[in-house]
Amino acid sequence: MDHRPYRVLLTCISPLSQMKYIIVTGGVLSGLGKGVTSSSAGLLLQCAGYKVTAVKIDPYLNVDAGTMNPYEHGEVFVMTDGAEVDLDLGNYERFLKCNLTSDHNITTGKVFKKVIEKERRGDYLGQTVQIIPHIVREIVDEIKGAAKNAKADVCVVELGGTVGDIESMPFMEAARLLGREEGRENVMFIHTTLVPVLGSVGEQKTKPTQHSVKELQGLGIRPDVIVGRSEKKLDEDIASKIAFFADIPREAVISAPDAKSIYEVPLIFLEQKFPELIEKRLGLKTKKPDVKKWKDFVDRITNADEEVEIAIIGKYTSLKDSYISHEETLRYAGALLGCKVNIRWIEAPDLEDSGNTDELEGVDGVIVPGGFGSRGSEGKIMAAGWARTNQVPYLGVCFGFQLATVEFCRNVLGLKNANSSELVPDGEHSVIDILPEQEGVKDMGATMRLGDHEVKVSDGKAKELYGSDVIFERHRHRYEINPDYIEQIEAKGMKYTGRNSSGRRMEILELEGHPYFVASQFHPEFKSRPDEPSPLHLGLVKAALDYKKSG
Ligand code: GLN
Repeated sequence: MDHRPYRVLLTCISPLSQMKYIIVTGGVLSGLGKGVTSSSAGLLLQCAGYKVTAVKIDPYLNVDAGTMNPYEHGEVFVMTDGAEVDLDLGNYERFLKCNLTSDHNITTGKVFKKVIEKERRGDYLGQTVQIIPHIVREIVDEIKGAAKNAKADVCVVELGGTVGDIESMPFMEAARLLGREEGRENVMFIHTTLVPVLGSVGEQKTKPTQHSVKELQGLGIRPDVIVGRSEKKLDEDIASKIAFFADIPREAVISAPDAKSIYEVPLIFLEQKFPELIEKRLGLKTKKPDVKKWKDFVDRITNADEEVEIAIIGKYTSLKDSYISHEETLRYAGALLGCKVNIRWIEAPDLEDSGNTDELEGVDGVIVPGGFGSRGSEGKIMAAGWARTNQVPYLGVCFGFQLATVEFCRNVLGLKNANSSELVPDGEHSVIDILPEQEGVKDMGATMRLGDHEVKVSDGKAKELYGSDVIFERHRHRYEINPDYIEQIEAKGMKYTGRNSSGRRMEILELEGHPYFVASQFHPEFKSRPDEPSPLHLGLVKAALDYKKSG
């Protein structure tokens, strides 16, 4: 047998570093809240004074999430550097109040692409390039690189997928190797599993957990902590049984019962001394996490006096995670204003098919979020028109900004065939047109106008809400307001109060004489944090409260 690949592996072993890693794996089935477990662990350590960063591993062949359908995978989250990533990264940014970069989302596609590029360059000259060691080496280096660049004390690594998936095998091996290279005292493993309850018996069952722990052990990974997801807290004897089978102390079995919101999870973990467990295992000083601010925030979201209802007109509303950043920022806005924000999900194609706006009746505000393609676009235009003419607060984001302009051009300027050239190429009035730099772009992946861009804000509601005349917000689009129509549009009362630094590109619109009709080309929802909702969403909820009171 040829042992050369293994020699490569051995020569690449790096010196022991002080960085601490927490690897979070999942067993039994997906959707158990690995992301929430990871962000909660990160938050608690952050509250204890450690600098924490996070890495999400997605074992799919897409290089990034940019070309993936939100219907299957939920929202595509956009980071400051323009990376289009899995929505879990949004949770990390919100929980840890940080700005991550593309390095923090590692996909199979990204890793393979890098290794193949290196192979073509001749970096592995003479070697047979293989999953082990080359792909695994690349994964380990990527994780270490992201942690190091973030200058963190602790890096939480969430390994997407479920133990046993073929797709996640190289990543499991990389996790094992990371533990070997960095030293057992610097790398720990948390395994999240399901503890189901069987209907007729009503008993919590440990067998699936036992199997997935075995599977993990078979891959050379010994979990240090098991987080058991179940409807209720784990029964004492069940937790002890899991501890026994996994060969860990009883305190290392953590209950993750259903919570009212994901924000309660860190507090549930804290009660079970989760941070202490991690600190001890990683040889960190045990510090008492200061969770006062977080607790206040959780109290505010759970105890609101008032309620408002906001309609979100989308295309993927049956998978609610498609608009998760909007949901979260509305929750934060509500927490700040002492009100609960209820969301009425409206499918744009249904609205379009019904031919009327009955579904919107009774809401206190409307959001038309980002989107692509013609299906449902007329429904979104109807919703924008309904909010405009009925003086109902409206927030349009990206596509919702563009379609509000189309509606205004059609019904106020009388340009009956106004449209976006994304929907009707070569139409009579392409009031929304392709960005000049996008013409001729053929590849779909990572080619939009992406990430943070400067916006200059002139007097108006947006400027008041932001409290600044220069802002940086995240973008993701190929089309924009056609500059040829701006003068006509503004003459009729739709003002562009936000523009890019050259002044040529429209970024924010506000409708004169309307209580709150505001839209942005950028996505304000991506930068919202628990205590800092997006200013434009905050404005919407405020206006919705006023609208409701005015009856
Ligand atoms: N489809 C529009 C564009 O590409 C809007 C994109 C979006 O809403 N993110 O410009």
